[in-house]
Amino acid sequence: PLRSALTAEDYANGIIAGDRVTLSRAITVIESNAPKHFELGQEIIQRILPYSGGAMRVGVTGVPGAGKSTFIEAFGTYLTKNGHKVAVLAVDPSSSLTRGSILGDKTRMENLARQKNAFIRPSPSGGSLGGVTRKSRETMLLCEAAGYDTILVETVGVGQSETMVRQMVDYFLVIVITGAGDELQGIKKGIIELADSILVNKADGDNKMKALMARADYEQILHYLRQPTEGWKTKAYTCSSITGEGIPEMWSVIEDFRENVTKSGIFIKRRKEQTIEWVRAMAGEYLQNRIARCAELTKCREEIERRVIEGAITPTSAAKALTASMERLLFTNARE
Ligand code: GDP
Repeated sequence: PLRSALTAEDYANGIIAGDRVTLSRAITVIESNAPKHFELGQEIIQRILPYSGGAMRVGVTGVPGAGKSTFIEAFGTYLTKNGHKVAVLAVDPSSSLTRGSILGDKTRMENLARQKNAFIRPSPSGGSLGGVTRKSRETMLLCEAAGYDTILVETVGVGQSETMVRQMVDYFLVIVITGAGDELQGIKKGIIELADSILVNKADGDNKMKALMARADYEQILHYLRQPTEGWKTKAYTCSSITGEGIPEMWSVIEDFRENVTKSGIFIKRRKEQTIEWVRAMAGEYLQNRIARCAELTKCREEIERRVIEGAITPTSAAKALTASMERLLFTNARE
């Protein structure tokens, strides 16, 4: 009973004071699908909003096995040892099926999890990619208000989740590894074009030479590709998440980036654009939910679809008829 007695103000005060337990509980509220939690969650965010935005937001992606978790553990530990407060979040839309394929396993990032200045939160499970992303974005704001100055957002290197994470971070790091044969196989051009850095991981032992060669290959390729951040040249680097070689250098690159894009105004411009994009995407999603929930509209739609399949009406007039039904059923009713 005491649990539910916490008000939005209590949550916000606890978060701003840097209390981890309150932060965790607030994230649970954000992740809940219950309508009453939704209201409470929004009120908490409203209160902490002025305290958010201060972190460097870094997205980390790569195919399974590339070493994302190992890298984040090494990188995060390096940062906490250098006075940073680091939050690690994840966007994994598949986690409802696989029960948390990333960050879900408690044995991962054990060392980092023990650090007083690190906070690790697995991906919210269930729901659409849009829903998972919203929850992670809101969690990011709460972490910033709690004083975390670096947010690492991990995502799997498959599907659409990279694009969603690119849209919520300042810096996007793509982790790659060397493989047999064609080094660049299996990594899509589209993902490289999202990267502010390409990091060839596992540059250690027998693999070091190969990693250096892969780095040179990526440097070549990058000449021909679009770069995601105005005024910043994407380059390839190597590191070993096991020995730690290249880890401090990676952070220097990110600091360099931040200084550069802050000076040029690109940093704040991108943040604003991301917020607007986010609002638009959410509005689109809400509208789709309303469309899906309207039983009368579903009936209309089925009827129109039946007629277009029978050849009674053209696809274009079917689309127009469907739009007209939406306007009539969603918007006219809403006004009444
Ligand atoms: P993820 O699926 O991308 O999160 O990859 P993991 O972090 O789980 O790493 C996959 C495997 O690669 C594990 O066995 C790691 O120990 C290993 N690994 C990760 N980084 C390195 C590295 O820098 N060097 C070497 N030799 N192995 C690594």
